[in-house]
Amino acid sequence: MIPGPFSYHRPATLADALNLLSTLGDEARPLAGGHSLVPMMKLRLATPEHLVDLHGIDGLKGICPDGNRIVIGAMTTQHELLVSEQIARSLPILHEAALLIADPQVRYCGTIGGNVANGDPGNDMPALMLTLGASYRLEGPGGAREVAATEFYQGAYFTALEPGEILTAISIPLPPAGHGYAYEKLKRKVGDYATAAAAVILTMSGGKVASCAIGLTNLHETPLLAAEAARVVIGTSLDAATLERASAVAKAIMSPAADARGPVEYRKHVGGIMVTRALTRAASRAG
Ligand SMILES: Cc1cc2nc3c(=O)[nH]c(=O)nc-3n(C[C@H](O)[C@H](O)[C@H](O)COP(=O)(O)OP(=O)(O)OC[C@H]3O[C@@H](n4cnc5c(N)ncnc54)[C@H](O)[C@@H]3O)c2cc1C
Repeated sequence: MIPGPFSYHRPATLADALNLLSTLGDEARPLAGGHSLVPMMKLRLATPEHLVDLHGIDGLKGICPDGNRIVIGAMTTQHELLVSEQIARSLPILHEAALLIADPQVRYCGTIGGNVANGDPGNDMPALMLTLGASYRLEGPGGAREVAATEFYQGAYFTALEPGEILTAISIPLPPAGHGYAYEKLKRKVGDYATAAAAVILTMSGGKVASCAIGLTNLHETPLLAAEAARVVIGTSLDAATLERASAVAKAIMSPAADARGPVEYRKHVGGIMVTRALTRAASRAG
């Protein structure tokens, strides 16, 4: 339970942080809230020789409207998402999901950037980012680039981040006014990671689903966008048969690991239930 030895660096600018990461090489890791990295270090599952703490860098925090998008700085904490009126008004699904992450102590420190950059299939924010059509700003020695969340996740703990890059901001298009939303998360106890979770954003018109996106958490080695299941519900009034079909189509792309949260078949079964619950609740909220 004691991490291996490491050197601690606290750069004051993004340029200094990028310089440190490229000078120190593979053995250096950015440190955000530390609530995924430090537990991994204590278990010796991560043994970085250098930690580059991002807390001293101005400009990595904040929630700013930018035209028809909201831009969230990577070092914005989950607690700051929860208390933001802008988030509650424009992206209420983020508020709902942040409240389901761990406990207040973790949320005071854990950042949205660390949550989405970590690559842990159990993290809640990545599936939301797929559902919302978000993109990530990555800055590195070669300059800045924008990567869609749908392109970012390549395997468990394996992402599009290149060595030396820092995720600096998350850009989320505003969902349409009157959209319905829901994040349904089954967990063994308060503070646990998801056994299975589903995010839904949809719009309704004349009692029928006009648009829909469905994201899945901890049901594969990466977060998933259940695009075919979303297609199944578009144009329907979400009757029982459609919900059942959408759940079955979503289950077909799930391949969770068997672990302490249950065997594969159980996790797929409850994953399907999370999809139907999220669809139903999102529809009930749509204007
Ligand atoms: C008891 C407990 C329960 C938890 N339950 C949940 C849960 O239910 N759901 C959930 O989603 N999370 C959960 N978490 C994890 C928590 O949300 C973490 O805070 C989050 O996953 C990582 O954010 P962080 O800021 O702490 O990042 P860190 O731990 O500092 O970093 C995580 C990883 O991302 C990298 N990284 C961090 N920031 C950047 C960046 N800007 N650019 C590039 N790389 C970066 C780091 O190098 C590291 O590899 C839990 C944690 C604990 C301790």
